[in-house]
Amino acid sequence: MVISHWLQGELAPAEGPTAPVHNPTTGRVIAEVPLGGSAEVNRAVGVAREAFESWSRVPLKERVAVFYRYRELLARDRRTLAAQITEEHGKVRAEAEAEVDKAIELTEFACSLPQIAGGEVLEVGRSVTCRLERYPLGVVTSITPFNFPIMVPHWTIPNALVLGNALILKPSERVPLSAMRTAELLAEAGVPPGVFSVVHGARDTVEALCDHPGIAGVTFVGSTPTAQAVYRRASHHLKRVLALGGAKNHLFVFPDADPGRTASNALTSAIGCSGQRCMAGSVLVAIADTEEIIRRLVEGARALVPGRDYGPVISRGAKERIEGAITEAEAEGAEVLVDGRGLSVPGLEEGFFVGPTIIDGVRPEMRIAQVEVFGPVLAIVRVKTLEEALALEARSPYGNAASVFTRSAASAERVVDAASAGMVGVNLGVPVPREPFGFGGWNASRYGVGDITGRSSIEFWTQSKKITTTWPEESR
Ligand code: NAD
Repeated sequence: MVISHWLQGELAPAEGPTAPVHNPTTGRVIAEVPLGGSAEVNRAVGVAREAFESWSRVPLKERVAVFYRYRELLARDRRTLAAQITEEHGKVRAEAEAEVDKAIELTEFACSLPQIAGGEVLEVGRSVTCRLERYPLGVVTSITPFNFPIMVPHWTIPNALVLGNALILKPSERVPLSAMRTAELLAEAGVPPGVFSVVHGARDTVEALCDHPGIAGVTFVGSTPTAQAVYRRASHHLKRVLALGGAKNHLFVFPDADPGRTASNALTSAIGCSGQRCMAGSVLVAIADTEEIIRRLVEGARALVPGRDYGPVISRGAKERIEGAITEAEAEGAEVLVDGRGLSVPGLEEGFFVGPTIIDGVRPEMRIAQVEVFGPVLAIVRVKTLEEALALEARSPYGNAASVFTRSAASAERVVDAASAGMVGVNLGVPVPREPFGFGGWNASRYGVGDITGRSSIEFWTQSKKITTTWPEESR
């Protein structure tokens, strides 16, 4: 089955080349995704431009009313949406449902925008007022990665649309089906035709979106090399751009940390969603004696059951890459305490499974300590002092998240202050900020200004007009 694009509020049958979409749990091909190019992008921009003219004039409160309905539809279809995520992404049911729940929360934030995205007015002089009004940008695009097929598109769709823009989604070609379910639900909620479109494809599609003069703003979420390419290309065309990249998140573990809670948090952080999270803890920096925590971590990793506690990784290529990274670390002298290589799940032998992997004795100069693995692999680097730990984290080019585990507020605050990361957790391993706080990292994990969600996104999706007024005495 070749998936259609979504234009003018309905399926738009695709022509041209396609790529296979796999169910990573079984390894089977479940659909063909079209690889759109400039022709599809031109068409989508045309319908979006036309729809924008009227949508941007709909009062904010009326636009929000559509998203109140949409929130209910997400809740109604929570289970079927989660099943769709599981089919094309592979994550287990609980993780998929959590993703839909997060999409609901993001939609709820968008519903609060009339309360927080209003204008301002001030008397700035005698009989002179200045007021600020917000206007949408126009036609915008959101280019998303494979690892959260529903949640990441919801970082942008509700806020951008509520604020009056028309949005073209370019979902990952690995998970195109969840995007189509999103499109159907938005239409059912009452988003007018053309206000939301889906153009499928890969690099060529993205480049056509970055180049198109009719697109005013580009958000991107994906790996750092692609984030850099998109940021450069769309900025070159003078667009507003926010591009979120990859990550290498450090978990700082002090000897006084609660052993049970720390081990289970670190495990969830590193192994949850099979490590395919930009918030995944990837390097555990063990400061001095943390033997008991590491022992529990190993015990917990060994107890996890494939298919029940964790799913496969996204592709056969990803499985080979991840297993290769483990082998390389071993060859460099690291000790693989829990080994997820070569895992075969009975009945799912063709699935792309990699088991939880914990590697001890990793040295900072090893590749496994530096590059994003994006799989269920936790590298342990042992250091003697906090200074050494912080120096290790500071050397990483990334800066998405960091976490610290300790009972000492002073130790925690040292890490909070020094970590070169945009999101920091204290005694929790996945420090995703909840709305109204925004999601966004530092350094090579984000290019552009501001966060992609929360209050900060208001600035991205709007432009402000400042109107200074005075009236002649007689007309006051
Ligand atoms: P990716 O960079 O391969 O792809 C992301 C998007 O870019 C997809 O839609 C894809 O079709 C498109 N694309 C791929 N190659 C391209 C190219 N050369 N030129 C233009 N477009 C291209 O990323 P992925 O593998 O889908 O997702 C995993 C990555 O995303 C990880 O690095 C992860 O850390 C990152 N991620 C970051 C965040 C964050 O908030 N910082 C969130 C989720 C995922």
